Amino acid sequence: MNKSLRPAIIAGNWKMNKLSMDTMSFFYDLKPLIKEAKCDVVVCVPFTDIATAAVASKGAKCKLGAQNCHFEPKGAFTGEVSVDMLRDAQVEYVIIGHSERRQYFAETDETVNKKLKAALAGGLIPILCVGESLEQRENGETLALLESQIKKAYEGIDAKDAKKIVVAYEPIWAIGTGKTATADEAEEAIAHIRGVLASLYGDTAQNISILYGGSMNAKNAAELVAKPNIDGGLIGGASLVVDDFVTIINAASAQN
Ligand code: PEP
Repeated sequence: MNKSLRPAIIAGNWKMNKLSMDTMSFFYDLKPLIKEAKCDVVVCVPFTDIATAAVASKGAKCKLGAQNCHFEPKGAFTGEVSVDMLRDAQVEYVIIGHSERRQYFAETDETVNKKLKAALAGGLIPILCVGESLEQRENGETLALLESQIKKAYEGIDAKDAKKIVVAYEPIWAIGTGKTATADEAEEAIAHIRGVLASLYGDTAQNISILYGGSMNAKNAAELVAKPNIDGGLIGGASLVVDDFVTIINAASAQN
């Protein structure tokens, strides 16, 4: 397993947190602390913070991300935001198919697939989220579910585009619960995802970054990112606190 074939990425997901003043001070504090980062750093902010974050993060070794996009390019979709709008606002990454979007906003494997295609066509890097519920894990359905989510998400996407997608394995039972998958559980699931990608795209699977997400924090990050298939993290709660986020970035940097 050669981790140098793909970028290590630490991505923060602020969810529905922080106003513009908090955004300014976050990037002001973050900027000097990540100058030497040896992994890619992404911060996925709420739509309303994007403009502030674009200014506040200027010159920082990090990229901006959004947490959702619509698959249509424009039109009568009240409340939605297009890929072009995000690009126009200097966003480079977009989270697609987060379990909270699937659970509360009726996102399906089909809309996830459409959003991936729209993001790729518009030049955004998608961070595709997959993962099982507690019930599915307890029923022994995890690996089959991951295979199905991955195959449906990538339907109709060629290898050239497939390697632009970042995958985040996020067991739903570990998100925001303080309950982390053990490093071995996360590695098993992520190795399985890489195997499914290899069945679709052959060696290209080695070039795809696969992150772990689910209560990753300053204490457990180093053990998780040391695993051969885990290329970084998608971090919710701990990405809201600069010091915790930087500790996680440093743990990923130490792997490179
Ligand atoms: C997430 O929302 O993607 C996430 C992993 O959240 P947390 O780190 O808070 O569990």
